[in-house]
Amino acid sequence: MKIICIGRNYINHAKELGNSLPIEPLFFLKPNTAIQPKGHPFFIPFFSNDIHYEVELVIRINKAGKHIEERFAHNYYSEIGLGIDFTARDIQKECKKKGLPWEKAKGFDGSAQISRVFIDKSNLDLNNISFSLHKNSKQVQIGNSKDMCFNFDFIISYISKFYTLKIGDLIYTGTPEGVGSVKSGDKLKGFISKQEMLTVLVK
Ligand code: MG
Repeated sequence: MKIICIGRNYINHAKELGNSLPIEPLFFLKPNTAIQPKGHPFFIPFFSNDIHYEVELVIRINKAGKHIEERFAHNYYSEIGLGIDFTARDIQKECKKKGLPWEKAKGFDGSAQISRVFIDKSNLDLNNISFSLHKNSKQVQIGNSKDMCFNFDFIISYISKFYTLKIGDLIYTGTPEGVGSVKSGDKLKGFISKQEMLTVLVK
C-alpha cells in the first residue's frame, strides 16, 4: 500500500507558501509507516519546531490499474475520506532551498492522518465537496473540491502514468489555504460538510 500526495492543488494555498502554480500535478510519497495507528495521539517529532497541519480530501483506490484514461478513472475509487498531511515546514523549507527532496519533511511517523470513515462517492457531488479543519474548536481551514487545480479523475490518470495503482492506495489530493502550526495539547477535528471525520490529539 502506498500513500501519494498532491502538492499545490489549490491556488490560494500555493500562493500562501509563495509557490508558483503547477502546470501538471506535483506529487510525492509517504511510507505506509506514516499512517497513525488507530486511537494513538500524534507526537510532534523531535527534529522540527514547525509542524503544520494540511487538511485534505483522500481518495482510496479500489481497483489496480496503470495508464488509466481520465474518462475511466472513476472506476478506480468508490469512496472519499479525509486526512491531514502533517508537514515539518521548517525542514521542508530547508530542503526546498537546497533543491533537495522533501520526504524527510513529509513522511515521518504519524504524518499521514486518515479518517476511519470514508464516504461512498455516490453520496457526494465530487465537484462540490466542502471540507474543513478546526483547531481547538476554531475553524482554521475550509476548502471545496471545486477549487482544485486538478480533479480526482485527472489526478488518478496522471499518477497512473508513472506508478501502478493498487487496491488500498491512498491519494491525498492537496490542501486549501490556512495551513498553520500545531503545538502539544492542540486538538484537531476534520469535517466533510457537517460530518465529523477525524480527531487528532497533538502531544
Ligand atoms: Mg499536502
